[in-house]
Amino acid sequence: MGKVTGFLEFERTAPLKEDAKERLKHYNEFVKNFELEEVNKEAARCMDCGVPFCQSGCPLGNVIPEFNEAVYKGDWHLASTILLSTNNFPEFTGRICPAPCESACVLGINKSPVSIEEIEKHIIEIAFEKGYIKAEQPLIRTGKKVAVIGSGPAGLAAAAQLNRAGHEVVVYERDDTPGGLLNYGIPDFKLQKDVVTRRIALMEKEGIVFKCNSNVGVNVEINTLLRDYQSIILAGGSTIPRDLPATGRDAKGVHFAMDFLKQQNKRVKGFAVGGEDILATGKDVIVIGGGDTGSDCIGTSNRQGAKSVTQFEIMPMPAEKRTNNMPWPTYPMLLKVTSSHEEGCERGWGVNTKEFIKDENGNLKAVKVVDVEWEIDANGRPMNFKEKAGTERDLPCQLVLLAMGFLHPQKEGLIEKLGVELDNRGNVKAEEGKYQTNIAKIFAAGDVRRGQSLVVWAISEGRETARKVDQYLMGHSSLPSKDGIP
Ligand code: FAD
Repeated sequence: MGKVTGFLEFERTAPLKEDAKERLKHYNEFVKNFELEEVNKEAARCMDCGVPFCQSGCPLGNVIPEFNEAVYKGDWHLASTILLSTNNFPEFTGRICPAPCESACVLGINKSPVSIEEIEKHIIEIAFEKGYIKAEQPLIRTGKKVAVIGSGPAGLAAAAQLNRAGHEVVVYERDDTPGGLLNYGIPDFKLQKDVVTRRIALMEKEGIVFKCNSNVGVNVEINTLLRDYQSIILAGGSTIPRDLPATGRDAKGVHFAMDFLKQQNKRVKGFAVGGEDILATGKDVIVIGGGDTGSDCIGTSNRQGAKSVTQFEIMPMPAEKRTNNMPWPTYPMLLKVTSSHEEGCERGWGVNTKEFIKDENGNLKAVKVVDVEWEIDANGRPMNFKEKAGTERDLPCQLVLLAMGFLHPQKEGLIEKLGVELDNRGNVKAEEGKYQTNIAKIFAAGDVRRGQSLVVWAISEGRETARKVDQYLMGHSSLPSKDGIP
């Protein structure tokens, strides 16, 4: 524990953000860094409470009190060693994790929790700055080869760990650049892409090979991979978006959120978007869906210069007493007013979209919506809804972005051809903790297995899967497990 009385002396400091009007002029990150004195005070607030709920609240099992103490003492080298022992990519989680560790912080019982996420970001950035982060090649190579399909956080974490164990790792990515949703999906203003490129470059120096524009099952033969690699990890994410099959769905101007977001990532990189531009500039935009993806559409639309942005969620405005029972994406909405909401948008809960209304040329000109009333069951869960009489209305809009979550991974191509079993939600079936599919040499990690989730879970699954693959290949593994389970 750094300072015994720290939690009594200091209040939580939230990092400053650039003014909303200013940050809307660009796509860069806008959360300002703490001064060193502020990080030190935040670390001093950690009570080292004996039973570190923060650590169990973190899907990676980050050893938070220990790195807080090192930060308080100004030992950044030790802090980064502790942090990197459980998390391959703190530079990602330190920026975009919803920080379940902070929700679990014991100080949060009667004060604001420690700003763990910010501390994490500072540790890793200072470690890069001071040159503590260096490419490390394994001392011994095992001669075994592993193919990782998908280069999102799950695939990257698995690749990093397996390479560390001495296996030869090749990562196949169907996009032109590695990173998965870190690269194409999550807007640059939440996570600048130089942060992703810096990590990929380091991994390449460590010996990991990335093969981009390689869509396994389409332009890369699965049988070749099955022949050439002793194990394969499926880490292709959950990519099939939930649709809204209302009348007029084919109107020009109704798009899936991911098509819109990915295009903007490409523009920021200076790449061609490929296909017709989807832009919010000068338009009344309606975002349907209240989760992270919807929020990212709001921030992007405002940066593109939308005339107005409105977000609708079909679930009811959550009530405090129902928090714990709320399914995704409802519960984060209760907890979160995201930075994109701060930048400006109208929000509506309990709103159902009934029709996309077209003009004579097939262009979207309005949406017909209606307010709905939810029947809440004895446990506080919303069950069925009925329309509220007299609330049906047509709202003019020229762009609708569908951000209602993702159903499961794409089955055609890779998954169908491999013949891996799927669970009842359509995700790749591989038991948590084992990560092995019905085909012994094939494992699965991240959203492809658990469904749409979080970056921190993807990293956690990538690490755990790597350990299981290592055991499968070698009969044992010295890679760490978050639970310390052999
Ligand atoms: P992905 O990141 O989806 O990566 C899968 C990769 O596999 C993709 O690059 C894909 O092209 C590739 N691939 C698929 N099939 C093949 C194939 N056959 N051959 C080769 N390559 C293939 N989480 C957070 O924690 N914080 C956030 O702020 C946040 N914001 C989000 C915003 C948006 C818009 C979205 C959609 C998600 C967000 N998430 C966020 C969720 C998070 O991004 C995902 O949970 C995480 O990226 C999943 O990682 P993954 O490695 O399993 O899959």
